[in-house]
Amino acid sequence: MPKNATACPLDCPDTCGVLVETDDEGAFVRIGGNPEHSYSRGSLCGKTAIFGELLNAENRLRHPLLRKPDGEFEPVSWERAIERIVERTKGIAGERILALSYAGCMGLVNRNYPARVMHELGATETDGGICDNTATAGFEAVFGHVIGADVETMADTDLLILWGVEARRTHQHLMRSIQDLCQRGVPVIAIDIWRSDTIRSLEKWGGRGLVLNQGTDASLALALARLAFEEDAVDSEFLASECVGAGRFREHVLEHSGTTLEEAARETGIPADAIRVLGRQIADARHSFLKTGVGFTRRRNGGMSMRAVCSLAALHGSRMRLHFESPDHFAIDSGPMTQVEQRREPRRIIRHVELGAELESGRFGAVFVWGHNPAVTVPDSNRVRAGLARDDLFLVVHELFMTDTAALADVVLPATAFVEQSDIYRSYGHRVLQYGAQTLNPPDDQKSNVETFSLLARALGLPQRVWDVDEAGLCQEMLESMRARIGDEDLARVAAGEPVKLRERDVADRGTPSGKIELFSESLEAAGEPPMASYVPDDGAGGSGAYRLISAPSIATHNSTYLYSKRHARRAGGPRCYLSARDAARLPAQDGAQVRLSNEHGQITLILSVSDDVPHGAVRVDGFPDPASTPEGVSINAITSPKLTDIGDGNVLYSARVDIHAL
Ligand code: SF4
Repeated sequence: MPKNATACPLDCPDTCGVLVETDDEGAFVRIGGNPEHSYSRGSLCGKTAIFGELLNAENRLRHPLLRKPDGEFEPVSWERAIERIVERTKGIAGERILALSYAGCMGLVNRNYPARVMHELGATETDGGICDNTATAGFEAVFGHVIGADVETMADTDLLILWGVEARRTHQHLMRSIQDLCQRGVPVIAIDIWRSDTIRSLEKWGGRGLVLNQGTDASLALALARLAFEEDAVDSEFLASECVGAGRFREHVLEHSGTTLEEAARETGIPADAIRVLGRQIADARHSFLKTGVGFTRRRNGGMSMRAVCSLAALHGSRMRLHFESPDHFAIDSGPMTQVEQRREPRRIIRHVELGAELESGRFGAVFVWGHNPAVTVPDSNRVRAGLARDDLFLVVHELFMTDTAALADVVLPATAFVEQSDIYRSYGHRVLQYGAQTLNPPDDQKSNVETFSLLARALGLPQRVWDVDEAGLCQEMLESMRARIGDEDLARVAAGEPVKLRERDVADRGTPSGKIELFSESLEAAGEPPMASYVPDDGAGGSGAYRLISAPSIATHNSTYLYSKRHARRAGGPRCYLSARDAARLPAQDGAQVRLSNEHGQITLILSVSDDVPHGAVRVDGFPDPASTPEGVSINAITSPKLTDIGDGNVLYSARVDIHAL
């Protein structure tokens, strides 16, 4: 049976190679992993392995829908839907149109092309801001270009540290390499804020976990930095040749209060002896690998936490490789796809994290949403929902399912799935580039982002260069723009559908103001920011609840992508929260009881599960509980804050504090 190669389009660092099997009539048979992919090596996670459920789901959107005066939707033709959009948006000034997209499909063409139309309209955009802004800003402050070590070289390490990486749920293909290392007797240590699934696996395989108090990553990193200086374990040659500010940083950590073992033990909750052992392991390793996640930066002191971890890695120089997830290795310029040069100046941009307040202000007359479900995935979601539901706002949503955001729309446009469109995929976890040509025809009236927004552009009277495109042609254009980076031979392989690992990227400089690794940043100091990494306790985003909220990833759903698939939702189980036995007894509430989590932003009622994997004083919720299954009709972001991180204007989802009441 024919098999066509493509890639998983989800916002996941693994970006697996995918083979789509069809029958002789071209109908979908199954989806599987591509064994030619050097990183994912022929396997998919359990979520995407059953992607066929989505393709043929009875609740998939099939036709455009218009909202009638009575509030109900009616199915209409594409012509009628587009006509309504033109009628309602034609007179609206560009800056009063908001382009709202995110990572529902990571294909570079379909994700970016709609921005070309939005630029031409002069629409306001968001800054991203709900994923890795802060992690990136923290990394850049120390290392410059966000190009970490090649994760596929992890196999030869003599010490692996996973800092805030719940690999079992978010980076699943790493688990094989981690198990291999453990079996070879290589020490593997996972640092996290709860006894994660990764830590539980390590405990079986001979590795270990260190559970620290939330928001104390910088305290641990700086204590380890102090140990390295005290025990003369730093790479002095590297510091002298590659870094600036090593002397001042040394003085800073040796004199900074909060960096002694005892102080760090008190802050982090990790015994001083365990921190000392980790410091010794790092000092003894000749070729260690430190892989960081992003979650530990989604809090008020997140930028400082990343700066501290990066500074620690810099002290060990060439003996420690650092991996942080970023697509910068690919050096892909999305400018030509979005026709960024057409963007009107001054650029109109809002902070994504503050979306609720922006919508509530009434400054927008129309919002276009693609690849995004902001009613569920943006902090302070009650406010976002209220803003999207305003009577004076015209909302257009392009989607696969009737998501919580689509349910608020005036016009809903049905979208294709990734196997029904062509696109180019690059990862932010590894270095493999892929092209996936369209394999299937959409079953009904669904259209891709490119088809949808080019239709809109034409109907809105935009110039021909904006709308006279086709998806396969745009993919070829984008690949062509990468020829210098990729080389002729590899470009031909990518265009033929092969997953191709890109060669090392040459960068002329480090990308910091000084051109070196900055343990002391003069530019940040000039901007009024602390010049060196310090430990600043997390203030809980101003919340006063008695419990710290741990928003953990779910293994059964992916952000909100699989939330509307019945089989995935069944696998995810009911809307649960997890508390230690001690805290459950304190409420008091038994396993299976209903409990309400609340704070100044909202409330959500969940079923209690007692689990001693969760530390005392914290409550864990996995993924996004399905709003339809909670009495309030909301998900976890009903109780998260729209405040900003210390640098990078990122989200503080993980700083949330809540009160809990048994019902
Ligand atoms: S969600 Fe991640 S692990 Fe699962 S198939 Fe997609 S890329 Fe692979």
